[in-house]
Amino acid sequence: MSTDRKARIATVSLAGCFGCHMAILDMDERLIDLMARVEFDRSPLNDLKRFTGRCDIGIVEGGCCNEENVHTLQEFRRNCDVLVALGQCAIMGGLPAMRNAIMHSDDPLRDCLDEAYLSSPYTRNLTNTVPNDPVLPLLLDRVYPCSEVVEIDLQIPGCAPSGDIIHDTLIALLDGKFRGFERTELRFD
Ligand code: SF4
Repeated sequence: MSTDRKARIATVSLAGCFGCHMAILDMDERLIDLMARVEFDRSPLNDLKRFTGRCDIGIVEGGCCNEENVHTLQEFRRNCDVLVALGQCAIMGGLPAMRNAIMHSDDPLRDCLDEAYLSSPYTRNLTNTVPNDPVLPLLLDRVYPCSEVVEIDLQIPGCAPSGDIIHDTLIALLDGKFRGFERTELRFD
């Protein structure tokens, strides 16, 4: 990547728990050195809601569970040279994808909503209705990993990935020296 300017990084959380963004902060004091080389564009870290320009690296936490996630991910693909799936939810759907297993009929989304809002033994729903406000993003039929929606250039494993692996990967990308992960780094915890 160019060395005559700071690299631009954007980040977003789709269907995730923000744990991967907490892991970015786990770089701790190394963030100070990193900030000498990068600036953050659209990101929950600075509360910028829109891209202000093209970015060198986009980092995506979480997979896609609704149409808004899909649009956001496609926007990241359009605006970022290198698109990184950060953590297991982005890579394979993760915990939100547990709903993919709820399918009692040929309408699995209805099955999932019924179980969540109506029929679960843990549900107490006095209106006995499923939320259906027009402002709610439309749910997809299942939760999709990012790579099934757009092309992903790099996946950083972990739930959440460690601050170490995030830092080392970003530095290697900035230096143009990323060569993949060691086998010991390919784990979930
Ligand atoms: S991979 Fe783990 S930490 Fe990251 S968003 Fe998913 S559940 Fe949260």
